[in-house]
Amino acid sequence: MTKVIGFHYTLKNDAGEVLDSSEGRDPMLYLAGSGQVLLPLDKAINGLSVGAAKSVSLSAKEGYGEVDPSLKMNVKLSQFPDGTEIKKGLQFKINNEPGSPMFRVINVLGEEVFIDGNHPLAGVNLNFDVVITESRDATADEISHGHAHGVGGHHH
Ligand code: ZN
Repeated sequence: MTKVIGFHYTLKNDAGEVLDSSEGRDPMLYLAGSGQVLLPLDKAINGLSVGAAKSVSLSAKEGYGEVDPSLKMNVKLSQFPDGTEIKKGLQFKINNEPGSPMFRVINVLGEEVFIDGNHPLAGVNLNFDVVITESRDATADEISHGHAHGVGGHHH
């Protein structure tokens, strides 16, 4: 039976810095095997009981992949559409094809804009501390939709 699993998490890099955490938010809720959660993490916590705590370490490759240097590039300010305020942290897509990377503006130096299409966590080893908050059989609706319903999951 496919499970729906809820969990709280803290994500740290190898230096122990907190990169992300569900603290103060609803727990993450996902449909097992759906890809809503990184599959190696899903596999490691699927089957744990409510209340169970587990530390799971994923290599960058198992997480968001290695850094692809070809996605780091310099473009000219004039290549952006008129009226767009280009500043550090801006996120945009170069085209609308599904699966095309989200680029971020890393820095603006005069007319030069340094952009990066890698996932912000590419190249980073991921160390999760997880506490399971929910574990139940998925409903037929959830299985047909491919995602979990409810608090922390998908809303319609
Ligand atoms: Zn749905």
